[in-house]
Amino acid sequence: MGKYQFHEIGASVYAWDMHDEGVETVLDNLKNMAHVNSVYLVALMHEERHPWPDGLAFPHNPVRREYVTEDSVAYWKADRGHYGRIAPAGPTNFLKGTDWLELLVKEAKKRGMKAGVEFSHTLIDSRRLNHELADVCQVDLYGNPLVRTHIGEHHRVPCMNHPDFLEYAKNLYAEVVTEYDVDYVLNCIMPYPAPASYLLTEYDAEHHPLRRAAETAVRAGCFCPACRAKAGEMGVDLEAIRDGLLALVEDAKREPALEETNVSLVEFLMNHKAFEQWISFKCASVAAFHGKLHDVIKRLRPKVENRLNLYVTSHPEYAGFWGKALAPSFDAVRVCCYTEHLGIADAAEKKRRVLSSAARSFGPGMNRIGAIGVLPGATAESVKEGILTCGECGVSSIMLGHYDGAESELLKAVGRWV
Ligand SMILES: [Zn+2]
Repeated sequence: MGKYQFHEIGASVYAWDMHDEGVETVLDNLKNMAHVNSVYLVALMHEERHPWPDGLAFPHNPVRREYVTEDSVAYWKADRGHYGRIAPAGPTNFLKGTDWLELLVKEAKKRGMKAGVEFSHTLIDSRRLNHELADVCQVDLYGNPLVRTHIGEHHRVPCMNHPDFLEYAKNLYAEVVTEYDVDYVLNCIMPYPAPASYLLTEYDAEHHPLRRAAETAVRAGCFCPACRAKAGEMGVDLEAIRDGLLALVEDAKREPALEETNVSLVEFLMNHKAFEQWISFKCASVAAFHGKLHDVIKRLRPKVENRLNLYVTSHPEYAGFWGKALAPSFDAVRVCCYTEHLGIADAAEKKRRVLSSAARSFGPGMNRIGAIGVLPGATAESVKEGILTCGECGVSSIMLGHYDGAESELLKAVGRWV
């Protein structure tokens, strides 16, 4: 027993873990080594190579060294009858034909574990977004398709303000909470493409407000017809905001030696009122989307928790995450700050800052869940430090990511310190 009492020790599980090792082995390992009492299936996710990030090979998978996920396929048996225009596609490879969510929930409950489901980053594959669903996708400041770059390729991004995308997301939620005995849904949907500077590795980079605002305006905002309609409903003049942002981008190009100037945030906002209005609109759009998903859960199965995976750890409001607006829609926030694999001297301080920021932003009443990266590059010592930091910061629970790349010594370190 560790120094801190965590209510829940959670862990993410992938369909390929269950296929290759067997669900019983996976859950027994998590329970016996790491005292895990809650598991969730990453049930619909973006394309990504595993082990993530930068691991050479899976440490305990008996079948394969690595796996690249299929883009946005559902690892449960979705019923086409539950959906409208947009429905999830299933896997086409060795993972097809099995309901991985049903399997995980059944085995978790047998062991007295909680069971959950995660939707991660993307809900629709790029092929459909590029073609038959191009009309639900985001449009940038200049009227062109907005894309996120991932593994060297550009992918279009659906707009949270588009009614067909919202309907699809609501149907996904309705299906998993009514058809499966899940205890929580973890939401890690990416609302807008996030420039790399938002992520933890750049946490300490001091960005000039104008440069950062210009980058956000160009790369992480939508001006599609659905956004215009939403803005109209909210009494927001998106056209005027767009003009202001275009002027801001030109200012950023002109200003010399940005790093050497010293502009206060107040002066910046006084000069660029459109930026603050626009970030507020983005955050209101994201909050409205999550509010609708929250309503679906609470209408159908009120005891199921709606959880946010807050993956943007540096100034999340730029990416549309404003704690004050989101708090009413969530029962818990998983603060996704993995420091264990980075090998950095101030890892504990970084984790502390991010956890504290989440407490301030979402309010003291929000249930925070700490994230521990049992990832390639982590050590038993860094895992211990991460867990103790979570405890010092007063989080109620911790969740591990990701089993498929976790050396057993890391899982055992979790077991020693929780
Ligand atoms: Zn839009």
